[in-house]
Amino acid sequence: MPHSVTPEEVSTPVEATTSQIENNDGETQMTEGTLTAAESEEQNGDTQATDSTNEDITMGDVGAEQKEQPSEESMTAETKPEVKLEDLFADMTSDDEFADPALDVKVSSSPPEAPFSPVHTGPISRASDSDVMRSFYQRLFPWRYLFQWLNHSPTPSTDFGHREFAFTLQNDAYLRYQSFRTSDLLRKDVLRLNPSRFEIGPVYSTNPRDRKTLRKASAFKPIAKELCFDIDLTDYDDIRTCCDKANICNKCWQFITMAIKVIDVALREDFGFKHIMWVYSGRRGAHAWVCDKKARLMDDQKRRAIAGYLEVIKGGTQSGKRVNVKRPLHSHVARSLDILKPYFEDDVLQGQDPWETDEKFARLLELLPDRTLNEALKKKWSSAPGRSSTSKWADIHTLAKSGVSKALDTKGLRDAQQDIILEYTYPRLDIEVSKHLNHLLKSPFVVHPGTGRVCVPIDTKHCEDFDPLTAPTITDLLREIDEWEAPEEAESEDKKLQDWEKTSLKPYVEYFRSFVLALMRDEKDVKVKREREENGEMEF
Ligand SMILES: [Zn+2]
Repeated sequence: MPHSVTPEEVSTPVEATTSQIENNDGETQMTEGTLTAAESEEQNGDTQATDSTNEDITMGDVGAEQKEQPSEESMTAETKPEVKLEDLFADMTSDDEFADPALDVKVSSSPPEAPFSPVHTGPISRASDSDVMRSFYQRLFPWRYLFQWLNHSPTPSTDFGHREFAFTLQNDAYLRYQSFRTSDLLRKDVLRLNPSRFEIGPVYSTNPRDRKTLRKASAFKPIAKELCFDIDLTDYDDIRTCCDKANICNKCWQFITMAIKVIDVALREDFGFKHIMWVYSGRRGAHAWVCDKKARLMDDQKRRAIAGYLEVIKGGTQSGKRVNVKRPLHSHVARSLDILKPYFEDDVLQGQDPWETDEKFARLLELLPDRTLNEALKKKWSSAPGRSSTSKWADIHTLAKSGVSKALDTKGLRDAQQDIILEYTYPRLDIEVSKHLNHLLKSPFVVHPGTGRVCVPIDTKHCEDFDPLTAPTITDLLREIDEWEAPEEAESEDKKLQDWEKTSLKPYVEYFRSFVLALMRDEKDVKVKREREENGEMEF
């Protein structure tokens, strides 16, 4: 039986001494129309202009709370001239959906003399081609399911209508507070504006497009959003040896698989959430969307409580010990250790060989508590250059048992080894994404402009089978439509296939569809129950 914990009564598995000081609250920091590029997703020089745009943006990031490592591309809207939409799109026909003259159009940090110019090499350049992008949104993007997912019902409601969408245009302009009554209107605008990506924000108390016409600014506030998690492989650069920065391979992708396993089970068993969707971020990470109604309605305080509960790795790479868990282990940490141990042996010790050199094993010794034992280990390892991390890990046990250190605290050593396993495997969460109701996150199924890969959902039941390097690319998918041939059987004529059904996007859209259906079914039950209660049928 899952023991359901409410966020209010969450006890964090981590020592209180490391708790962070909260210096912001989302409410007061909703400085309208301003934004900070939270982080530059792509930092290796081989990428293109669009790659320098921010991955996720929090309104909460504006102001007091600064990112530890502000990217060079960071920008605030105050420094940018505000331009009128009609100046940017002089040749655009007018549209009711854009009747609001107060659209926030911000020009990005890209200087005008350096326009976006794709590098013509392989699928990446094709992906950035705006016609290719438009074809994808026209023919393949699952608009209907996206609508149902956010609307929680087939009939248009404010769950969808008051939801903020934010578009990053091809010229890097960033349009916030877009909203749409139906999936068709959203689709129409995406095809017209042809953004390089779009993000999903919260549901507001009123239509985001009307926010400036309200008499009281306080009447416009975020009221619901999925609880989100963001895991990115760049946060593993201190422990992965195969790749760094924006590069990934199947070896280091294992860290994402571990993270999904650990976080997903905690959200289900400890908090009782059921509707959790994991999505490939298109290059080197994954996002979780917890869609249960009780998750969507949580305020920032509850979101922070859950993020704090799940956060075990603290501090930067320069800080000493990054794992400080209480003993006896909290059930969440104990369960995580059980899940992570096999990955530690296979994917960390063997796959990454993190302590191969003298310089590297120094970090391991730093984390071990017994000075005499450490001296013996150091001597052994220095005299055997290149000794594998697997052997070094085994040496700890062997030398400890040999009695080399008379005063050895065996329990202390065991605890330290558990902490080391956690430091090298436990999920590294970008918890800013999780803490705020009003955080924007890239939509599932958009195309990553740098890789051309579609941000497809990852089936948690088979997450070890997910290979980010074979995730569908926009050019492959369009080619698959062209190459598709209708089967000859007569029955197929009755049913006209949608374009996505002709491509390798099919299993991902089908997974998304069944996820959305299950969510809508649950919401319907809740609605029926609430109506009964309102009619007094449930009163005692
Ligand atoms: Zn790698």
